[in-house]
Amino acid sequence: MMHRDFPLPDVEWEPAREFWAAAARGVLSIPRCTACARLVWYPIAPCRACGGRGLEWIALSGRGRLFSWVVVRHAWIPQVADRLPFVTGLVALEEDPTVRLVTTIVDCSPGALRCDMPVHVVFRPLRFSGIERTVPAPMFAPVATDGA
Ligand SMILES: [Zn+2]
Repeated sequence: MMHRDFPLPDVEWEPAREFWAAAARGVLSIPRCTACARLVWYPIAPCRACGGRGLEWIALSGRGRLFSWVVVRHAWIPQVADRLPFVTGLVALEEDPTVRLVTTIVDCSPGALRCDMPVHVVFRPLRFSGIERTVPAPMFAPVATDGA
């Protein structure tokens, strides 16, 4: 069943609550395993590396690289119609590039995107037409390079 403000994320959903709470403070946070220290994403125990059940949320650098992306040009639900086109990307995190976040890529024209380009986290309100509430969310933007 969809919650009231779909497609906004349910920030009270227990496994991801700290992810959204950290984002509201301007911090990119995901859990790591207390047994082997690997990042655990999606944030539900057990750890995929060692089977450990203890998770602790840590602050990340917010740096990563663009692993892959799609340019969304079609409104598959009416709530996204006024955002088109936008870019949904997979970002490989600096702390562990095998951990990839599904996110929105901002501040870059789709044609300028390149595989493996350095990106950094920015926090922007996630908003959808017809929904009053917004949710601060981690999105990623290209790292500015000198002279570019
Ligand atoms: Zn582990």
